Amino acid sequence: MTTLRSYLGDRWVEGSGVPQALVNPATEEPLAQVASEGLDVAAALEHARKKGGPALRALSFAERGNLLKEAAKTIQAHRDELLELEIANGGNTRSDAKFDVDGAVATLHAYADIGETLGGAKFLIDGEGLQLGRSPRFHGQHVRVPRHGVAVQINAFNFPAWGFAEKAAPALLAGMPVFFKPATSSAMAAHRVMEILVEKSVLPEGTLSLLVGGQRELPALLGAQDVLAFTGSGDTGARVRALRNVLIESVRVNVEADSLNAAVLGPDAGPGGDMYETFLKDVLRDMTQKAGQKCTAIRRVLVPAEHAGTVRDDLVEGLKSVRVGNPALEETRMGPVATAAQLADVREGVARLCAEGKAAFGSAAPLDGKGYFISPVLMEFVQDAAATAVHAREVFGPVASLLPYSGKASAAAAIVARGNGCLVSSVYSEDSAFLEDIVAAIAPYHGRLFLGHPKIEMSPGPGTVLPQLVHGGPGRAGGGEELGGERGLAFYMQHVALEGSRPVIQKLIGLRPAAAQG
Ligand code: NAP
Repeated sequence: MTTLRSYLGDRWVEGSGVPQALVNPATEEPLAQVASEGLDVAAALEHARKKGGPALRALSFAERGNLLKEAAKTIQAHRDELLELEIANGGNTRSDAKFDVDGAVATLHAYADIGETLGGAKFLIDGEGLQLGRSPRFHGQHVRVPRHGVAVQINAFNFPAWGFAEKAAPALLAGMPVFFKPATSSAMAAHRVMEILVEKSVLPEGTLSLLVGGQRELPALLGAQDVLAFTGSGDTGARVRALRNVLIESVRVNVEADSLNAAVLGPDAGPGGDMYETFLKDVLRDMTQKAGQKCTAIRRVLVPAEHAGTVRDDLVEGLKSVRVGNPALEETRMGPVATAAQLADVREGVARLCAEGKAAFGSAAPLDGKGYFISPVLMEFVQDAAATAVHAREVFGPVASLLPYSGKASAAAAIVARGNGCLVSSVYSEDSAFLEDIVAAIAPYHGRLFLGHPKIEMSPGPGTVLPQLVHGGPGRAGGGEELGGERGLAFYMQHVALEGSRPVIQKLIGLRPAAAQG
């Protein structure tokens, strides 16, 4: 059996202690093992700060962008191998695995392009300079400079490749070394990504580290110049945020956590129309892609009460054709969930939903045979007001709940807001008054709003996170913000106001003499 090693201080090292097994969730066959005791994580963090940070800061944005382009090409060259690993170790169908690996490559390329656009600079100039007094000589200019610490990035199990890329790309482009800890259960693909980047020496020494296994001390070792980007459950997010060193040293923390994303069918988008079909397609895709284990998946489906029965019947019809099984088989449309613990969690979540609503399709009953399989479950609620769990408990699996509303934007918005903060919700309507009202009412509860439309060709639906747009959400979703193109660099940089003589400041920031006069 393969033993996964960590890459710390530019060396592959093996931990000690009781190993944790990584399995194939379709067969429960052990595939690899990992142990993470006895590793000198503090020394590895210091190595990244002292060696990787200066190496990156010596490069321009364009040069850092070139590193990302090389990383993207290297991962692309190993695409097939990575897809196989994700099918075996993640319960992913081939299509699910492509979603992750291709998403990683696309994200690295997107940030490589941003690096090229930013060119020869090594830090960012934020906005125009400001005259601060009566004399034009008294001048101010905001800049963003790379922090001198290490960017620690802890990820959830569902996106081992994309999860790495979407955090590492902005950090490396900003000029911070990356110290990456993937979730243990699905770490084989993330581990292989690191191996191939190291084998090809894609990045300068010290700029990339990998910690595999259930080591828990990492966040407690961070200091004032470090940052922590965390994706996972709200509980773990709250725990790392409350660490003493995080509070005392003001360690910058970004949390991407749970989300009860909604899809709202507008009153004008009834059955039979193209908008309705787009809505159905997005809901069905989100329920079953990656067995519903996407932080952006639609969990609450809001439909005007008059259409609730038809929507239920159409979704049930769509779900009947979803073939659940071993993702290694071509005919399989939905694989298992990732772990035994995940399966137990989904079952418990469905039971809580069933206490207040009823299952219109599927159930949490165990399926025969080995593997962490569950059928898709469509829940139906007659009255939103009485239900609580559907707005409070993210069931991280192939589960969605149908909630009727009156057809008024204010009524839909009130239901959406009960989720207490989402990564993304979607609205399907061409009624501009409805759209105006609902967008204004729900925007503050979201990081992204997806306005579905049948004329958007090859629409990926709300569940796909694009590197150009912000990813994150308030409240339950963690209060974080990642990606968003160049905006994503800000987390890894210090905002500084330079105040003084205009020519001196303009020379410092590299403005040409003609522009710098005065
Ligand atoms: P989790 O149990 O919180 O684990 C997430 C990561 O944190 C894993 O790498 C885990 O390591 C690590 N970890 C756990 N306890 C830790 C501790 N005390 N100190 C340091 N690290 C710790 O979450 P999960 O079950 O893997 O992920 C599912 C959740 O993630 C869902 O709720 C989902 O909504 C959320 N999610 C959110 C987003 C987003 O972008 N907002 C994306 C994907 C998933 P081990 O694996 O070694 O335990």
